[in-house]
Amino acid sequence: MKGIKKIEIDETLQEDLVHRKELGLYIHIPFCIRKCSYCDFLSAPANDATKKQYIDALVTEILSYQDRTKNYTVPTIFIGGGTPSALDGTYIEIIMETIYNVFTVNHKEIEVTIEVNPGTITREKLLAYQKAGINRLSFGLQSTDNHELQLLGRIHTYEEFARNYSMAREMGFENINIDLMSALPGQTIHSWEDTLKKVIMLSPEHISAYSLIIEEGTAFYSKYGEGATNETELPSEEEDRRMYSITKTFLKEAGYERYEISNYAEKGFECKHNSSYWTGKNYLGLGLGASSLLNGVRFKNVHDIEQYICFLNEYKNQGQGSKNQPGINLPSMDEDILGIRREIERLAIEDRMEEFMFLGLRMCCGIHKKAFYKAFSIDIDHVYGKVLTDLQEKKLIVINEDNIRLTDYGVDISNTVFAEFMME
Ligand code: SF4
Repeated sequence: MKGIKKIEIDETLQEDLVHRKELGLYIHIPFCIRKCSYCDFLSAPANDATKKQYIDALVTEILSYQDRTKNYTVPTIFIGGGTPSALDGTYIEIIMETIYNVFTVNHKEIEVTIEVNPGTITREKLLAYQKAGINRLSFGLQSTDNHELQLLGRIHTYEEFARNYSMAREMGFENINIDLMSALPGQTIHSWEDTLKKVIMLSPEHISAYSLIIEEGTAFYSKYGEGATNETELPSEEEDRRMYSITKTFLKEAGYERYEISNYAEKGFECKHNSSYWTGKNYLGLGLGASSLLNGVRFKNVHDIEQYICFLNEYKNQGQGSKNQPGINLPSMDEDILGIRREIERLAIEDRMEEFMFLGLRMCCGIHKKAFYKAFSIDIDHVYGKVLTDLQEKKLIVINEDNIRLTDYGVDISNTVFAEFMME
């Protein structure tokens, strides 16, 4: 890996890693070629100058953690967006090199994912990703039907995706996710089945399949939102559930295990990064609008790009190096030394218990009773005994000796189940 400092794993470091807390890293790249009709993510087209300024600011943000990370080890990194593949590959190399210099990473075991969109991928970019230690690609495909892709406002055709996918395979990427989306306007059961069949033929290691949600403020909202003229073109709730059930059946027959409500993987290829969100582990979001959960505190970075760049420039111009002198009053990771954290919320024990339940029940393995006890030093039955019995009687959850999980019916109305765990 050119220019990137590799950490040799010796026994001392290996032992040291055991005593550190795990911290997943999320890196946000807020650029896209153009906005998809359904998208409410923090992303927009940008010119080359803005991209450069943003990467400079992002690198400064990463460097601000220098000498503050000694209690943590990073098991997963996820570069998401936006469209990270809309950037030059050298930018991704610079970001990764900075991370490797600042954070402690176990190179033998780390999972490093980058989201890529067909139509923005080249051989040079894929080579740059490999050089930067990226070992997992997540393709935003959504559908194999070109008419549906056009309706969604995607910039690519299925054929373009197929060429990009083959190129990635030929270049040796062995851990690939494909994102799909069902319940699209005008989508039929037949076209969804066709999408699933074509994707299964490609044998990706992981498939994410979400139902479309019409979000306020998107182009789709004015067309298909509540009360809008074209709302009736959306599949009914019953069709949506049928598509979900077909997904489960098709993917199971093809050898994929559903391990989370909307995620399927070949054995051993479950996404470690996203699993850490669902199991309530610490993660640090770097970049515009990125969310973090750090030692029981949730916060988001500022989401105005001009402000973000401005804050980081100010910090850099003040001489960031002098702030982080090793051994001299080092701030902890929990301190907002850049002034870019917003919506800071210290989670009360009740909030943490609620989240533990919602997120844990998304996983097919469910919630382990011992894990609840370990997290809160109290038996789960003491907190949620009555709720659990009621949900079990309604056949929405199954309670075993060790764990609790949703039934198929519980998955169908999961939001109703999750609401039961809210405390007053
Ligand atoms: S590519 Fe993804 S992030 Fe970009 S506009 Fe489309 S859906 Fe949104």
